Amino acid sequence: AVIARTKAVEPRVHAFNSFDESDALAQAAASDARRAAGQARGTLDGIPIGLKDVIAVEGQPLTASSKMLANFVSPYDATVTTRLKAAGAVCWGRLNMDEFAMGSSTENSGFGSSHNPWDLTRVPGGSSGGSAAALAAGEAIATLGSDTGGSIRQPAALCGVVGMKPSYGLVSRYGLIAFASSLDQIGPFGRTVEDVATVLQTISGHDLRDSTSVKIEVPDYRAELAKRRGPWKLGIPKEYFGEGLDPEIGAAVEQAIAFYRRQGCEVKEVSLPHTRYCLDTYYIIATAEASSNLARYDGIRYGHRSSKAKDIVDLYFQSRAEGFGPEVKRRIILGTYVLSSGYYDAYYLRAQKVRTLIRQDFLKAYEQVDALITPTSPVPAFKIGEKSDPLAMYLLDVYTIGVNLAGLPGISVPCGFTKSGLPIGVQLIGQPFKEADLLAIAHAYD
Ligand code: GLN
Repeated sequence: AVIARTKAVEPRVHAFNSFDESDALAQAAASDARRAAGQARGTLDGIPIGLKDVIAVEGQPLTASSKMLANFVSPYDATVTTRLKAAGAVCWGRLNMDEFAMGSSTENSGFGSSHNPWDLTRVPGGSSGGSAAALAAGEAIATLGSDTGGSIRQPAALCGVVGMKPSYGLVSRYGLIAFASSLDQIGPFGRTVEDVATVLQTISGHDLRDSTSVKIEVPDYRAELAKRRGPWKLGIPKEYFGEGLDPEIGAAVEQAIAFYRRQGCEVKEVSLPHTRYCLDTYYIIATAEASSNLARYDGIRYGHRSSKAKDIVDLYFQSRAEGFGPEVKRRIILGTYVLSSGYYDAYYLRAQKVRTLIRQDFLKAYEQVDALITPTSPVPAFKIGEKSDPLAMYLLDVYTIGVNLAGLPGISVPCGFTKSGLPIGVQLIGQPFKEADLLAIAHAYD
């Protein structure tokens, strides 16, 4: 059914960079065989799960939507892929995204933008736009994305699905193409919070292959949904409701807050005073780390190799000039600049200090409340081509990037529609590694 649906809508949605029908059918047949043999079935047995094209699946293309990796085939599985396969899931397709996960609309993809299934003239958000669009269009049952500054939550909001970024360290990054290593996390998209809990359950937990993955006991998130019932204490960060917020989104989020009040939750205003430094801090740290991570694409070991080069140094230059798109180049230049001698202390080191202050803001708020409730995106899905200025695009991350800088879990849940019929998302932000509570809070509303 998913294959048939994908074939029917994909020419209009363009959520996938590629998919392999016969491989998916073979995986599904293996699941059927397990069932016929009466074998124990995994939690996701036979369920087609789409993967963002930045998560390695052995023998499948892995492009990060970059011309640099257009012909690259992954020689191994990411840890999340291994875990999905162990749970019986059918790994389905390579989902489109902004090149190397840099962007908020999928327009930076080297292979063309995805389209929002609710209005095909609009973006699905990004960078995991393909993951959100595929799910909203019925081309997968759940999907995985990656979130460095909002790339799961924002497209989830713009496409009317649930998307979750776990605490930094909960999900292994082994086999995830790196953008900004201290911020990147893989997380699930689903149609319901329960689906998201089920997938998160499968992919979470310590991994020796990722030194930043934490050793904690992973609770049964799905079973915990029913057990944890509140009432909860929720905080409204006043800095998240100011200038720039679309009034229809503000009103929809107010409705969600009113729902929690009716459930007996205590809702109070809190302050995250360093919020105004989040964007600056993020775009220094993320670009610095990206410039370092992307140094590996040299045209020698793997990826695009220029055929025009005159000598070895020229080969590096030409291969990178031809392989990377304009946004990736912009970030490499910015990141290299903030790390360069003489500027390191002024920019990078300072950003790291501000990052600590941002995290402390959240931890202080959590002395009073269990979770925070905010809009996910200041605007609903915008027209493809509407935001040509990179800075206008960066500003869209204002409500999501604090969560990454502080390493917290965050989830976006649908909370209504604009008058013109575009989905709106509400963001719930939890305490570090308290995913079970955050999911239960989100589930109450879902
Ligand atoms: N939009 C942000 C950026 O362009 C976040 C991207 C992400 O989370 N991968 O960096």
